[in-house]
Amino acid sequence: MSLLLAIHGEVELTCQRCLGGMRHTVQIERTLHLARNETELERLDALPDGDAILAGEKLNLVDLVEDEVLLSLPLAAMHAEGECPA
Ligand SMILES: [Zn+2]
Repeated sequence: MSLLLAIHGEVELTCQRCLGGMRHTVQIERTLHLARNETELERLDALPDGDAILAGEKLNLVDLVEDEVLLSLPLAAMHAEGECPA
């Protein structure tokens, strides 16, 4: 089984230069193959069209989406050159 994850939204980040707020657009589209065990995980992870994750009987979608969003955020958020008041 696989899952097409599409997340679109906006988050408020803090600029690391001026410490002001800045909007960051999140746009994620990923295919996740759901593996039931380690063997399947290895096989599915080798597929070129997505990533595999180990999913138990139940999959916590909220956690999954949260992880994806957190991973997509820049480590050091900063306004673009010229847009930063600092
Ligand atoms: Zn700034």
